[in-house]
Amino acid sequence: MKIEVLEKGEAKLSLAIKEADVPLINALRRIALAQVPSMAIDEVVMIENSSILQDEIIAHRLGLTPLKTDLDSYNLPEECKCESEFGCNLCRVTLTMDAESDEGTRTVYSGELVSENPEIVPVSDKVPIIKLAKGQKLKLEAYARLGKGQNHAKWQPVAVCAYKYYPKIEIERAKCTDCGKCVDICPKNVLAIKDNKVEIRDLLACNLCMDCVGVCPQMPSAIKVEWEKNAFIMNIESTGVLPPERIIKEASKILDKQLREFMKQLKVETK
Ligand SMILES: [Zn+2]
Repeated sequence: MKIEVLEKGEAKLSLAIKEADVPLINALRRIALAQVPSMAIDEVVMIENSSILQDEIIAHRLGLTPLKTDLDSYNLPEECKCESEFGCNLCRVTLTMDAESDEGTRTVYSGELVSENPEIVPVSDKVPIIKLAKGQKLKLEAYARLGKGQNHAKWQPVAVCAYKYYPKIEIERAKCTDCGKCVDICPKNVLAIKDNKVEIRDLLACNLCMDCVGVCPQMPSAIKVEWEKNAFIMNIESTGVLPPERIIKEASKILDKQLREFMKQLKVETK
């Protein structure tokens, strides 16, 4: 397998993967979405809520606020040695909020959550939680823990994790009249006209929609769009809880563990 990094940012990672097959890439995609753990608020104790929103709605909003995750220091509660329903320092983080509006109406943002661990804080300080009118108060204690996307979307570490086939475009020079119809119809601006000739401007942007093939006045079309066998472009966009490269690394670790477990059980069965 050959992997090339096409783009790497703080939250976005784009990979070109060659000599791999669909089952493997799809398994990694599914694990990244559903099984790589991340931190999210799971329980909220309301101490005071004189706002107009019900406790449940506020708790739901807090749960969906992405929190920076530390996978090396925390355990999944079901795997933690404490075996306690309430959790311990290794499987739970407490965050508190004490917000009040003294004058006028104001918005309370995620930045007002105070965490006992400065590493486990909201990814953004600017997530609106609630609006408080004059005299209204919101005081609460929230407990965050590691969880998996398969149990609730709030634990999903990625906003996007998708792959597409690696495109392959051929323009048959002998047939092409460079009329430019394919350039105009392409929704992704893959093609361009340079020196009165149609050329490929951005191959990887192609989403194989085939509009250019359909619009070509030549019969059969002078432009041929295909995809490479066993080559993919994978895009991973983190919600900010973990770096995207860590998410994909964790996904491959989980897949490896599952396959080992499968082999172990297979051995037992065939004994
Ligand atoms: Zn614990």
